[in-house]
Amino acid sequence: MSNPNDLSELNAHDELMFVEDEDFLLEDATLDCEDALETATWTVVIVDDEPAVHQATQLALNNFAFEGKPLKFLSAYSGEEGKQLLSEHHSETAFVLLDVVMETHDAGLNVVQYIREELNNHKVRIILRTGHPGEAPEESVILNYDINDYTLKVELTRKRLLTTVITALRSYRDVITIDQQRQELAQTLVHLEKVQQQLTVYSQALEIKVAERTRALEKANQELKRLAFLDGLTEIANRRYFDDYLLQQWQILSQAQQPLALILADVDLFKSYNDIYGHQSGDACLKQVAQALDQVLNRPTDLAARFGGEEFAIVLPYSDLKGAEQIAEIILTTVRELALPHEGSSVSKWVTLSLGVSRIFPYADSSPDTLISTADQALYKAKQTGRDRYCIYHPSSGLELTLSPSMNPIS
Ligand SMILES: [Mg+2]
Repeated sequence: MSNPNDLSELNAHDELMFVEDEDFLLEDATLDCEDALETATWTVVIVDDEPAVHQATQLALNNFAFEGKPLKFLSAYSGEEGKQLLSEHHSETAFVLLDVVMETHDAGLNVVQYIREELNNHKVRIILRTGHPGEAPEESVILNYDINDYTLKVELTRKRLLTTVITALRSYRDVITIDQQRQELAQTLVHLEKVQQQLTVYSQALEIKVAERTRALEKANQELKRLAFLDGLTEIANRRYFDDYLLQQWQILSQAQQPLALILADVDLFKSYNDIYGHQSGDACLKQVAQALDQVLNRPTDLAARFGGEEFAIVLPYSDLKGAEQIAEIILTTVRELALPHEGSSVSKWVTLSLGVSRIFPYADSSPDTLISTADQALYKAKQTGRDRYCIYHPSSGLELTLSPSMNPIS
Protein backbone atom coordinates (compact mmCIF):
# COMPACT_ATOMS: atom_id res chain seq x y z
CA MET A 1 0.00 0.00 0.00
CA SER A 2 1.36 3.40 -0.95
CA ASN A 3 1.77 6.22 1.51
CA PRO A 4 -0.98 8.75 0.91
CA ASN A 5 1.34 11.61 1.70
CA ASP A 6 4.14 10.62 -0.58
CA LEU A 7 3.66 12.28 -3.94
CA SER A 8 6.86 10.70 -5.28
CA GLU A 9 4.91 7.51 -5.76
CA LEU A 10 2.60 9.00 -8.35
CA ASN A 11 2.21 6.91 -11.46
CA ALA A 12 2.59 8.38 -14.90
CA HIS A 13 -1.16 8.52 -15.47
CA ASP A 14 -1.68 10.22 -12.10
CA GLU A 15 0.67 13.02 -13.05
CA LEU A 16 -1.56 13.85 -15.94
CA MET A 17 -4.09 15.09 -13.44
CA PHE A 18 -1.90 18.05 -12.64
CA VAL A 19 -1.77 19.31 -16.18
CA GLU A 20 -3.02 22.88 -16.02
CA ASP A 21 -5.46 23.85 -18.69
CA GLU A 22 -5.94 27.62 -18.60
CA ASP A 23 -8.33 27.69 -21.55
CA PHE A 24 -10.71 25.39 -19.84
CA LEU A 25 -13.91 27.33 -19.19
CA LEU A 26 -16.85 25.78 -17.44
CA GLU A 27 -20.29 27.21 -17.59
CA ASP A 28 -21.48 25.97 -14.21
CA ALA A 29 -18.21 25.89 -12.42
CA THR A 30 -16.79 28.70 -10.35
CA LEU A 31 -13.25 28.02 -9.31
CA ASP A 32 -13.24 30.76 -6.73
CA CYS A 33 -15.74 30.51 -3.94
CA GLU A 34 -14.63 32.30 -0.79
CA ASP A 35 -17.72 31.44 1.21
CA ALA A 36 -17.65 27.85 0.07
CA LEU A 37 -17.10 26.40 3.53
CA GLU A 38 -20.02 28.29 4.98
CA THR A 39 -22.45 26.79 2.50
CA ALA A 40 -23.45 23.19 2.03
CA THR A 41 -21.00 21.03 0.13
CA TRP A 42 -21.08 18.30 -2.50
CA THR A 43 -19.82 15.16 -0.81
CA VAL A 44 -17.42 13.15 -2.97
CA VAL A 45 -16.19 9.70 -1.96
CA ILE A 46 -12.89 8.53 -3.43
CA VAL A 47 -12.31 4.80 -3.17
CA ASP A 48 -8.86 3.88 -4.44
CA ASP A 49 -6.03 1.77 -3.07
CA GLU A 50 -3.45 4.26 -4.39
CA PRO A 51 -3.12 7.20 -1.93
CA ALA A 52 -1.55 9.33 -4.62
CA VAL A 53 -4.77 9.15 -6.61
CA HIS A 54 -6.61 10.69 -3.64
CA GLN A 55 -4.13 13.51 -3.38
CA ALA A 56 -3.98 14.13 -7.10
CA THR A 57 -7.73 14.21 -7.39
CA GLN A 58 -8.18 16.61 -4.46
CA LEU A 59 -5.42 18.82 -5.75
CA ALA A 60 -6.92 18.94 -9.22
CA LEU A 61 -10.30 19.86 -7.81
CA ASN A 62 -8.97 22.32 -5.26
CA ASN A 63 -11.13 25.48 -5.05
CA PHE A 64 -13.64 23.94 -7.39
CA ALA A 65 -17.27 24.78 -6.76
CA PHE A 66 -20.45 23.88 -8.54
CA GLU A 67 -23.46 26.17 -8.23
CA GLY A 68 -21.74 27.95 -5.36
CA LYS A 69 -21.03 24.78 -3.36
CA PRO A 70 -17.54 23.35 -2.93
CA LEU A 71 -16.62 19.67 -2.79
CA LYS A 72 -16.07 17.76 0.41
CA PHE A 73 -13.87 14.68 0.01
CA LEU A 74 -14.14 11.40 1.92
CA SER A 75 -11.48 8.80 1.30
CA ALA A 76 -11.38 5.03 1.45
CA TYR A 77 -8.39 2.87 0.42
CA SER A 78 -10.00 -0.48 -0.25
CA GLY A 79 -13.30 -1.88 -1.43
CA GLU A 80 -14.28 -2.98 2.08
CA GLU A 81 -13.30 0.38 3.57
CA GLY A 82 -15.31 2.02 0.80
CA LYS A 83 -18.40 0.01 1.71
CA GLN A 84 -17.97 0.93 5.38
CA LEU A 85 -17.63 4.62 4.52
CA LEU A 86 -20.59 4.57 2.14
CA SER A 87 -22.82 2.74 4.56
CA GLU A 88 -22.59 5.88 6.72
CA HIS A 89 -22.42 8.60 4.10
CA HIS A 90 -24.07 7.30 0.91
CA SER A 91 -27.26 9.35 1.36
CA GLU A 92 -25.38 12.66 1.25
CA THR A 93 -22.85 11.56 -1.37
CA ALA A 94 -23.12 13.14 -4.83
CA PHE A 95 -20.69 10.87 -6.59
CA VAL A 96 -18.09 8.17 -6.00
CA LEU A 97 -14.77 8.04 -7.80
CA LEU A 98 -14.21 4.32 -7.63
CA ASP A 99 -11.14 2.28 -8.48
CA VAL A 100 -11.86 -1.11 -9.98
CA VAL A 101 -8.81 -3.11 -8.96
CA MET A 102 -8.02 -2.88 -5.25
CA GLU A 103 -7.72 -5.81 -2.77
CA THR A 104 -9.22 -7.99 -5.51
CA HIS A 105 -9.39 -7.52 -9.25
CA ASP A 106 -13.13 -6.68 -9.00
CA ALA A 107 -13.29 -5.01 -5.54
CA GLY A 108 -14.65 -1.81 -7.15
CA LEU A 109 -17.40 -3.70 -8.95
CA ASN A 110 -18.44 -5.25 -5.61
CA VAL A 111 -18.72 -1.73 -4.20
CA VAL A 112 -21.02 -0.80 -7.13
CA GLN A 113 -23.24 -3.76 -6.33
CA TYR A 114 -23.16 -2.89 -2.64
CA ILE A 115 -24.26 0.69 -3.32
CA ARG A 116 -27.04 -0.18 -5.75
CA GLU A 117 -28.37 -3.39 -4.24
CA GLU A 118 -27.61 -3.42 -0.53
CA LEU A 119 -27.79 0.31 0.15
CA ASN A 120 -30.49 0.56 -2.53
CA ASN A 121 -29.04 3.92 -3.54
CA HIS A 122 -29.71 4.73 -7.19
CA LYS A 123 -29.08 8.46 -6.91
CA VAL A 124 -25.40 8.60 -6.13
CA ARG A 125 -23.34 8.87 -9.35
CA ILE A 126 -20.62 6.27 -9.72
CA ILE A 127 -17.52 6.92 -11.83
CA LEU A 128 -15.38 3.86 -12.26
CA ARG A 129 -11.69 4.51 -12.81
CA THR A 130 -9.15 1.93 -13.64
CA GLY A 131 -5.46 2.07 -14.17
CA HIS A 132 -5.55 -1.44 -15.57
CA PRO A 133 -7.44 -1.34 -18.83
CA GLY A 134 -8.41 -4.83 -19.94
CA GLU A 135 -8.68 -6.28 -16.43
CA ALA A 136 -12.39 -5.62 -16.34
CA PRO A 137 -13.77 -5.59 -19.85
CA GLU A 138 -15.17 -2.10 -20.34
CA GLU A 139 -18.28 -2.91 -22.37
CA SER A 140 -19.58 -5.68 -20.15
CA VAL A 141 -18.94 -3.55 -17.01
CA ILE A 142 -20.87 -0.60 -18.42
CA LEU A 143 -23.63 -2.97 -19.47
CA ASN A 144 -23.86 -5.06 -16.31
CA TYR A 145 -23.15 -2.55 -13.56
CA ASP A 146 -25.25 0.50 -12.81
CA ILE A 147 -22.47 3.02 -13.23
CA ASN A 148 -22.53 6.49 -14.72
CA ASP A 149 -19.07 6.81 -16.18
CA TYR A 150 -16.07 4.62 -16.84
CA THR A 151 -12.67 6.13 -17.37
CA LEU A 152 -9.09 5.11 -17.59
CA LYS A 153 -6.85 6.82 -15.12
CA VAL A 154 -4.48 7.62 -17.94
CA GLU A 155 -7.21 9.74 -19.46
CA LEU A 156 -7.70 11.78 -16.34
CA THR A 157 -6.27 15.13 -17.21
CA ARG A 158 -7.52 17.99 -15.07
CA LYS A 159 -9.78 19.01 -17.92
CA ARG A 160 -11.17 15.51 -18.29
CA LEU A 161 -11.59 15.19 -14.53
CA LEU A 162 -13.48 18.49 -14.29
CA THR A 163 -15.73 17.49 -17.17
CA THR A 164 -16.45 14.18 -15.48
CA VAL A 165 -17.11 15.84 -12.09
CA ILE A 166 -19.38 18.53 -13.52
CA THR A 167 -21.32 15.99 -15.57
CA ALA A 168 -21.73 13.84 -12.47
CA LEU A 169 -22.83 16.80 -10.33
CA ARG A 170 -25.34 18.02 -12.93
CA SER A 171 -26.69 14.51 -13.25
CA TYR A 172 -26.88 14.11 -9.46
CA ARG A 173 -28.55 17.52 -9.09
CA ASP A 174 -31.13 16.54 -11.73
CA VAL A 175 -31.75 13.15 -10.15
CA ILE A 176 -32.28 14.82 -6.76
CA THR A 177 -34.52 17.49 -8.30
CA ILE A 178 -36.61 14.88 -10.11
CA ASP A 179 -36.80 12.83 -6.92
CA GLN A 180 -37.92 15.86 -4.91
CA GLN A 181 -40.50 16.66 -7.55
CA ARG A 182 -41.65 13.05 -7.52
CA GLN A 183 -41.99 13.18 -3.73
CA GLU A 184 -43.85 16.49 -3.93
CA LEU A 185 -46.09 14.99 -6.59
CA ALA A 186 -46.70 11.95 -4.41
CA GLN A 187 -47.57 14.23 -1.48
CA THR A 188 -49.85 16.25 -3.73
CA LEU A 189 -51.53 13.03 -4.89
CA VAL A 190 -52.02 11.90 -1.29
CA HIS A 191 -53.43 15.33 -0.49
CA LEU A 192 -55.71 15.20 -3.55
CA GLU A 193 -56.93 11.75 -2.54
CA LYS A 194 -57.75 13.07 0.92
CA VAL A 195 -59.54 16.05 -0.59
CA GLN A 196 -61.43 13.70 -2.88
CA GLN A 197 -62.42 11.51 0.06
CA GLN A 198 -63.54 14.57 1.98
CA LEU A 199 -65.51 15.72 -1.05
CA THR A 200 -67.16 12.32 -1.32
CA VAL A 201 -68.11 12.40 2.36
CA TYR A 202 -69.28 15.99 2.02
CA SER A 203 -71.24 15.17 -1.12
CA GLN A 204 -72.95 12.23 0.59
CA ALA A 205 -73.80 14.38 3.59
CA LEU A 206 -75.12 17.01 1.25
CA GLU A 207 -77.29 14.49 -0.59
CA ILE A 208 -78.75 13.31 2.71
CA LYS A 209 -79.38 16.90 3.74
CA VAL A 210 -80.98 17.72 0.40
CA ALA A 211 -83.21 14.63 0.69
CA GLU A 212 -84.19 15.67 4.23
CA ARG A 213 -84.92 19.23 3.13
CA THR A 214 -86.89 17.94 0.13
CA ARG A 215 -89.04 15.77 2.41
CA ALA A 216 -89.57 18.66 4.81
CA LEU A 217 -90.45 20.91 1.90
CA GLU A 218 -92.90 18.37 0.49
CA LYS A 219 -94.52 18.09 3.89
CA ALA A 220 -94.70 21.87 4.18
CA ASN A 221 -96.16 22.06 0.68
CA GLN A 222 -98.81 19.51 1.53
CA GLU A 223 -99.65 21.42 4.68
CA LEU A 224 -99.78 24.68 2.71
CA LYS A 225 -101.99 23.04 0.13
CA ARG A 226 -104.26 21.73 2.85
CA LEU A 227 -104.44 25.17 4.44
CA ALA A 228 -105.10 26.75 1.04
CA PHE A 229 -108.10 24.47 0.60
CA LEU A 230 -109.32 24.70 4.18
CA ASP A 231 -111.96 27.12 5.37
CA GLY A 232 -110.37 29.05 8.21
CA LEU A 233 -113.51 29.31 10.30
CA THR A 234 -115.16 25.93 9.97
CA GLU A 235 -112.04 23.86 9.28
CA ILE A 236 -113.71 21.92 6.49
CA ALA A 237 -112.96 22.32 2.75
CA ASN A 238 -113.36 25.84 1.39
CA ARG A 239 -115.25 27.04 -1.69
CA ARG A 240 -112.12 26.92 -3.85
CA TYR A 241 -111.52 23.29 -3.03
CA PHE A 242 -115.20 22.51 -3.56
CA ASP A 243 -115.08 24.00 -7.08
CA ASP A 244 -111.91 22.04 -7.97
CA TYR A 245 -113.20 18.82 -6.47
CA LEU A 246 -116.61 19.03 -8.11
CA LEU A 247 -115.00 19.59 -11.53
CA GLN A 248 -112.56 16.74 -10.96
CA GLN A 249 -115.37 14.34 -9.97
CA TRP A 250 -117.44 15.61 -12.89
CA GLN A 251 -114.70 14.53 -15.30
CA ILE A 252 -114.09 11.19 -13.61
CA LEU A 253 -117.79 10.28 -13.41
CA SER A 254 -118.55 11.40 -16.97
CA GLN A 255 -116.00 8.86 -18.14
CA ALA A 256 -117.22 6.20 -15.72
CA GLN A 257 -120.86 7.04 -16.56
CA GLN A 258 -121.69 7.13 -12.86
CA PRO A 259 -124.03 9.54 -11.03
CA LEU A 260 -122.95 12.57 -9.02
CA ALA A 261 -125.19 13.94 -6.29
CA LEU A 262 -125.02 17.31 -4.56
CA ILE A 263 -126.68 18.62 -1.42
CA LEU A 264 -126.73 22.35 -0.72
CA ALA A 265 -127.46 23.21 2.90
CA ASP A 266 -128.42 26.51 4.50
CA VAL A 267 -128.68 27.33 8.22
CA ASP A 268 -132.24 28.44 8.77
CA LEU A 269 -132.73 32.10 9.75
CA PHE A 270 -129.04 32.53 10.48
CA LYS A 271 -129.23 36.34 10.20
CA SER A 272 -131.53 36.48 13.24
CA TYR A 273 -129.20 33.99 15.04
CA ASN A 274 -126.38 36.48 14.60
CA ASP A 275 -128.63 39.35 15.69
CA ILE A 276 -129.60 37.60 18.92
CA TYR A 277 -126.37 35.77 19.87
CA GLY A 278 -123.74 37.95 18.19
CA HIS A 279 -121.31 37.17 15.41
CA GLN A 280 -118.89 35.22 17.61
CA SER A 281 -121.61 32.79 18.58
CA GLY A 282 -122.69 32.77 14.95
CA ASP A 283 -119.21 31.66 13.96
CA ALA A 284 -119.18 28.98 16.66
CA CYS A 285 -122.56 27.75 15.43
CA LEU A 286 -121.30 27.52 11.82
CA LYS A 287 -118.27 25.58 12.97
CA GLN A 288 -120.36 23.06 14.90
CA VAL A 289 -122.76 22.58 11.99
CA ALA A 290 -119.84 22.18 9.55
CA GLN A 291 -118.11 19.58 11.74
CA ALA A 292 -121.41 17.70 12.11
CA LEU A 293 -121.80 17.63 8.29
CA ASP A 294 -118.26 16.42 7.89
CA GLN A 295 -118.77 13.58 10.37
CA VAL A 296 -121.91 12.36 8.65
CA LEU A 297 -119.88 11.42 5.57
CA ASN A 298 -118.18 8.02 5.60
CA ARG A 299 -117.04 7.31 2.05
CA PRO A 300 -113.61 8.68 1.16
CA THR A 301 -114.92 10.34 -2.01
CA ASP A 302 -117.70 12.26 -0.19
CA LEU A 303 -116.89 15.88 0.62
CA ALA A 304 -118.41 18.53 2.87
CA ALA A 305 -117.40 22.11 2.07
CA ARG A 306 -118.32 25.62 3.09
CA PHE A 307 -120.12 27.00 0.07
CA GLY A 308 -120.34 30.59 1.33
CA GLY A 309 -121.74 32.43 4.38
CA GLU A 310 -124.00 29.99 6.21
CA GLU A 311 -124.29 27.71 3.16
CA PHE A 312 -122.64 24.32 2.86
CA ALA A 313 -122.26 21.86 0.01
CA ILE A 314 -121.99 18.08 0.19
CA VAL A 315 -120.55 16.33 -2.85
CA LEU A 316 -121.56 12.67 -3.19
CA PRO A 317 -119.89 10.92 -6.13
CA TYR A 318 -121.38 7.54 -7.27
CA SER A 319 -124.55 8.40 -5.35
CA ASP A 320 -128.07 8.12 -6.76
CA LEU A 321 -131.01 10.15 -5.41
CA LYS A 322 -131.92 7.48 -2.92
CA GLY A 323 -128.49 7.54 -1.34
CA ALA A 324 -128.35 11.34 -1.36
CA GLU A 325 -131.79 11.46 0.27
CA GLN A 326 -130.58 9.18 3.05
CA ILE A 327 -127.61 11.45 3.69
CA ALA A 328 -129.93 14.48 3.71
CA GLU A 329 -132.11 12.85 6.36
CA ILE A 330 -129.10 12.00 8.51
CA ILE A 331 -127.82 15.57 8.18
CA LEU A 332 -131.13 17.04 9.32
CA THR A 333 -131.24 14.67 12.29
CA THR A 334 -127.63 15.22 13.25
CA VAL A 335 -127.96 19.02 13.24
CA ARG A 336 -131.21 18.86 15.21
CA GLU A 337 -129.42 16.66 17.73
CA LEU A 338 -126.74 19.29 18.20
CA ALA A 339 -129.60 21.12 19.98
CA LEU A 340 -128.12 24.56 19.43
CA PRO A 341 -130.71 27.02 20.83
CA HIS A 342 -132.10 29.42 18.25
CA GLU A 343 -134.69 31.69 19.82
CA GLY A 344 -134.97 33.82 16.72
CA SER A 345 -136.10 30.88 14.57
CA SER A 346 -139.66 30.70 13.43
CA VAL A 347 -139.08 27.03 12.54
CA SER A 348 -137.78 25.42 15.69
CA LYS A 349 -136.26 26.40 19.01
CA TRP A 350 -133.06 24.78 17.81
CA VAL A 351 -130.75 25.51 14.92
CA THR A 352 -132.01 23.70 11.79
CA LEU A 353 -131.00 23.33 8.16
CA SER A 354 -132.78 23.48 4.83
CA LEU A 355 -131.40 21.19 2.15
CA GLY A 356 -131.64 20.99 -1.61
CA VAL A 357 -130.76 17.66 -3.19
CA SER A 358 -129.92 17.02 -6.84
CA ARG A 359 -128.28 14.28 -8.90
CA ILE A 360 -126.95 14.14 -12.40
CA PHE A 361 -125.05 11.84 -14.76
CA PRO A 362 -122.20 14.12 -15.80
CA TYR A 363 -121.19 14.21 -19.45
CA ALA A 364 -117.95 15.52 -20.84
CA ASP A 365 -119.12 18.59 -22.74
CA SER A 366 -121.16 20.03 -19.88
CA SER A 367 -120.24 21.79 -16.62
CA PRO A 368 -121.35 21.14 -13.04
CA ASP A 369 -123.31 24.43 -13.10
CA THR A 370 -126.56 22.57 -13.88
CA LEU A 371 -126.09 20.37 -10.84
CA ILE A 372 -125.43 23.36 -8.57
CA SER A 373 -128.33 25.27 -10.08
CA THR A 374 -130.86 22.43 -9.66
CA ALA A 375 -129.68 21.76 -6.08
CA ASP A 376 -130.07 25.48 -5.41
CA GLN A 377 -133.59 25.44 -6.81
CA ALA A 378 -134.43 22.53 -4.53
CA LEU A 379 -132.93 24.37 -1.56
CA TYR A 380 -135.00 27.45 -2.40
CA LYS A 381 -138.12 25.32 -2.51
CA ALA A 382 -137.27 23.72 0.85
CA LYS A 383 -136.93 27.16 2.41
CA GLN A 384 -140.02 28.48 0.67
CA THR A 385 -142.14 25.62 1.93
CA GLY A 386 -141.17 25.98 5.58
CA ARG A 387 -137.45 25.19 6.21
CA ASP A 388 -135.96 22.38 8.41
CA ARG A 389 -136.44 19.97 5.53
CA TYR A 390 -134.92 18.78 2.33
CA CYS A 391 -136.26 19.04 -1.15
CA ILE A 392 -135.26 16.88 -4.12
CA TYR A 393 -134.86 17.92 -7.69
CA HIS A 394 -135.94 15.04 -9.96
CA PRO A 395 -134.11 15.18 -13.27
CA SER A 396 -136.68 12.91 -14.96
CA SER A 397 -139.51 15.31 -14.24
CA GLY A 398 -137.61 18.41 -15.23
CA LEU A 399 -138.00 21.38 -12.88
CA GLU A 400 -140.62 19.65 -10.81
CA LEU A 401 -139.69 19.77 -7.17
CA THR A 402 -140.69 17.10 -4.74
CA LEU A 403 -140.75 17.80 -1.05
CA SER A 404 -139.23 15.19 1.13
CA PRO A 405 -141.84 12.83 2.63
CA SER A 406 -140.00 12.82 5.98
CA MET A 407 -139.85 16.56 6.39
CA ASN A 408 -140.56 17.93 9.79
CA PRO A 409 -143.84 19.69 10.32
CA ILE A 410 -143.45 23.45 10.67
CA SER A 411 -143.25 24.25 14.31
MG1 LIG B 1 -6.10 0.04 -7.96
